[in-house]
Amino acid sequence: MEIHNTTEEIVFSAIEGICASIEKEGNTGNFCLCDQCRTDAACFVLNRIPPHYIISNRGVARLDQVTHHRQQKDADTVSLVYEALKRVSHNQRPNIDHTKGAVKKAVLGPVFNIPTIIGRAFNGANFSPLADARVELRRKGKLTEMKNRNWQNPCTLVANTQGTFTFWPESIPVKEAGLRKSFEYSIKIEAAGFETLSHFFEVPVLSEAGDAESFSMDRTFKLPDLYLFPPGNDEVFSL
Ligand SMILES: [Zn+2]
Repeated sequence: MEIHNTTEEIVFSAIEGICASIEKEGNTGNFCLCDQCRTDAACFVLNRIPPHYIISNRGVARLDQVTHHRQQKDADTVSLVYEALKRVSHNQRPNIDHTKGAVKKAVLGPVFNIPTIIGRAFNGANFSPLADARVELRRKGKLTEMKNRNWQNPCTLVANTQGTFTFWPESIPVKEAGLRKSFEYSIKIEAAGFETLSHFFEVPVLSEAGDAESFSMDRTFKLPDLYLFPPGNDEVFSL
């Protein structure tokens, strides 16, 4: 049994739909529609509308098509998506390459396509989102290579992304499709005035016949919210 937040699907498909129509109409508003900005926009919207949880036996939720369609077209959702794209465009992550996300080098043959890893970091003393923090994603002790140039590792948390960080690790070649494996990663967050936090986690992946060539917000792996504390705070915090 799994718990599934149907709001995520609605927001992801609303963003994909709206970005497609912006592109079709020539993007006169000059929004940045790169993968990273889409993901930032999704986080922005998801942090502002209530989640809707359902229980799914198979891990795949079947959402009533009519409900889905209605919510996706909902005026509030649409205007939030536009606001999000406006806010995240260009200036929020100045150090990254916002060129539309071509895959760096496609891996030939079967691979484990690692999902986009999304997390948020907070100041544990007052629960506000962290800014000016450095976030690293590591596997086997090494910084993980990213799938394309839209993503940076390490990345820096900036004020307007609400403590959100995202990574899209490069895929991992394997002998054949259809194999299940869990990959161990760790997140390390450093910020001035806080104790460094390390978080270890496993990402279960099913291998596929080929490398994912384009970014899809449907492939995401969400971390629990992470809290950093000032040094000398003896309280043990666990989720
Ligand atoms: Zn961008």
